[in-house]
Amino acid sequence: MRTNRDDFRKPDIDALAKRAAYICSNPDCRKLTIAPSGKTDSEFIFIGNAAHITAAATGGPRFDAGLTSEQRSSIGNGIFLCRNCATMIDKNGGSDYPVDLLLKWKKDHDSWVSVNLNKRADQDEDSGTVIKVISHNQQGGITAGIINVGSQPRNLNTKLQNQLLRAFPDKEGDVIVTSTLGDGEAHRFATQIKDFLVEQGYSINGVNQAVFSSQLEGQTIDPEKRTIIVGTKT
Ligand SMILES: [Zn+2]
Repeated sequence: MRTNRDDFRKPDIDALAKRAAYICSNPDCRKLTIAPSGKTDSEFIFIGNAAHITAAATGGPRFDAGLTSEQRSSIGNGIFLCRNCATMIDKNGGSDYPVDLLLKWKKDHDSWVSVNLNKRADQDEDSGTVIKVISHNQQGGITAGIINVGSQPRNLNTKLQNQLLRAFPDKEGDVIVTSTLGDGEAHRFATQIKDFLVEQGYSINGVNQAVFSSQLEGQTIDPEKRTIIVGTKT
C-alpha cells in the first residue's frame, strides 16, 4: 500500500532492534522489550518500537523537510525505544526531545551494548566493586555521593565500566587516574580502569601514584575535575 509516510523497511526495523539488544535506548529507561509468550512455544511479547528521529510524515515530530524520502526512511533516522518512550518523545510535537538528544541516546546506546556484549545481563546492582561518585557545588562542597560496597579483589566489571562511561560522557580532555602509592592492588585496578578508558578512546593522564594525608578507601570519580582516584580496597 502506498502511503505518504516514509516508514522503515522490515529488515531495518529488525536491525535497529538487534543492534539495541532489544533494550530501550533511553538511558533513563533501558527496559527489555521482548520476552517469550506463555501461549505457545514459538510466540513472544514485543513492546519495542523503531521510532523516527525526524518524523516519517509532514507535520510529525521533528519533521525535517530537508531530508529525502530515502533518508527519512533509512535506518540512520531510526532509534530503538520501548513503546512508552517512543510515545513520550513525540509528545508536544517532539519539542522536549530534539534530534541531537535522540542521536546522542542512539550513539551512547550503541557503545553501551557493545561494551556489554558477552557479559552477564543480570549483574546485581548491590554487588561488585566499591565506587563513589562525587560532584561539587559552586562553593566546592560535595553535593552528591553514591557508594556501592562490594567484593575483592577489585575487577573492572560491567557495572563499573558503565559508571565510568556515564561519568565522562565527553571524551575531550584528559582523565587523570591516580592510585595510592605503595598499594599494588590499587595500582593494578587503576591500570585496568586506564586500559578500559584508553580502549574506549579517552586520553588518560596516569596511572599516577600519590600519597594521601588520610587513608583513602574505594574509588572516587569526579566528573567535573575529570579525575579518578583509586584508594585502598575496602
Ligand atoms: Zn523506554
